[in-house]
Amino acid sequence: MLPQDPAAALTELRELFDLQRNAFAREPSPSAGERRGHLDALCRLLRDNAGEIAAAIDADFGHRSLYETRLLEIFPSLEAARHAKARVGRWMRPERRRASVWFWPARVEVVKQPLGVMGIIAPWNYPLYLAAGPLASALAAGNRVILKPSEFTPRFGALLRDLVGRYFARERVAVALGGVELARAFAQVPFDHILFSGSTAVGREVMRAAAENLTPVTLELGGKSPAIVARGFPLKVAAEKIILGKCLNAGQTCIAPDYALLPQGTEEAFVEEARRAVGRFYPEGAASADYSAIINSRHHERLTSLVEDARQKGARVIELSAGGSGPGRRMPPTIITGVDDGMRIMQEEIFGPVLPVRTYRELGEALGYVGARPRPLALYYFDYDREGIDRVLAESISGGVTVNDTLFHIAQNELPFGGVGPSGMGHYHGQDGFNTFTKRKGVLLQSRLAGTRLLQPPYGKLAERLLRLMLR
Ligand code: NAD
Repeated sequence: MLPQDPAAALTELRELFDLQRNAFAREPSPSAGERRGHLDALCRLLRDNAGEIAAAIDADFGHRSLYETRLLEIFPSLEAARHAKARVGRWMRPERRRASVWFWPARVEVVKQPLGVMGIIAPWNYPLYLAAGPLASALAAGNRVILKPSEFTPRFGALLRDLVGRYFARERVAVALGGVELARAFAQVPFDHILFSGSTAVGREVMRAAAENLTPVTLELGGKSPAIVARGFPLKVAAEKIILGKCLNAGQTCIAPDYALLPQGTEEAFVEEARRAVGRFYPEGAASADYSAIINSRHHERLTSLVEDARQKGARVIELSAGGSGPGRRMPPTIITGVDDGMRIMQEEIFGPVLPVRTYRELGEALGYVGARPRPLALYYFDYDREGIDRVLAESISGGVTVNDTLFHIAQNELPFGGVGPSGMGHYHGQDGFNTFTKRKGVLLQSRLAGTRLLQPPYGKLAERLLRLMLR
């Protein structure tokens, strides 16, 4: 399914980059109407081919719920494009700012300019949304784009390449396919900006490669995102929402709640509520049509060994659905209690349908636990008390937060999306995405009556008087 031979893929990548660079030099600044046209093409691509896209992702996963693909990939991709299309004219407008009083009557403004050719590297877990979302931002900002899907979703990658070829000129958007060798070469291309979504380890490699060209990077990485439940919060509600956040795409979601922190003494009740929630969502357990598979056997083995490591070190492993594993690589939703930091499950990002739970005595202890660890991509807090919510918002740092639910902050195009420290750098979505892919150029428009003439050499009495005023 991967193209030809690696050498041909590399040559093609270089040609594509030159082609887009030259096209950018010829037409550096598409109008708002042209940008809306590109966003429209993206909407049509998504709408006309939704069924084929879902089928390709299903085949790559060995089972991906068709509803999940429509709800969590096609819909947010369309929303991102529609949101940008409706606002791009406004986002593009130069921003008038106030000139420093010493320079009056000069005027200043921020002019928005496309950066050029963008490289977008997508992971396998949401192969469409994590390519189409950044693409919508980059197109709104007037750029040209080369997308690089993951080698773990080869059918989807081939389809995307075909669709992009049908809906866009190669000078505007193109898809590069290949294995790890191409991925490495991709990060070495002197793009004007790279947006990478993927693991923290590979993010580091991408940044290292981009540093050679001083290519700016936006890194959308992962990590262990906690879900904290306040004392007194209804466990049924918390369990249902945490379990859903954990089970969508079988937990292979960058912002899935990784582990839960519960008030001491509530663990057993939480497990029972989680079991009931799984029964409601997935009546046939891991075999349910709405429950997705693990992407490949390497990840399946990794997850099984994380659970085994915890079991061997004394944790209790509780499968939440009857019937064990489903067909293929489907792993039952699982809770692990009695965990400690010596277990791998509390050290590595899980990225699967396994939820370790820990307990805390008071909120400060839970916040201390989170604060002592790498800054997470997302944090979930369940509390109906505004004081508690404000405390958690003030005393924790994470990429984003959903209060009293999970995942949904990602679907807000008015909010910046991005991690902090090891969970990422930079933001996109909505206007923040437009800004990421835009050069915001500061411009001063000097006036014919420029007062700066009064401060030119040879400096005399007037300059002396003025400087005294200025240095007061
Ligand atoms: P990955 O880092 O293995 O791969 C991501 C992409 O990088 C793929 O396209 C891959 O081909 C490419 N790649 C691999 N080696 C490379 C190299 N040396 N140079 C350049 N590119 C290279 O990640 P994955 O396994 O596909 O995805 C899972 C990880 O991604 C998880 O850690 C998850 O949390 C994270 N993630 C983050 C976000 C986010 O928006 N923050 C979204 C999805 C996934």
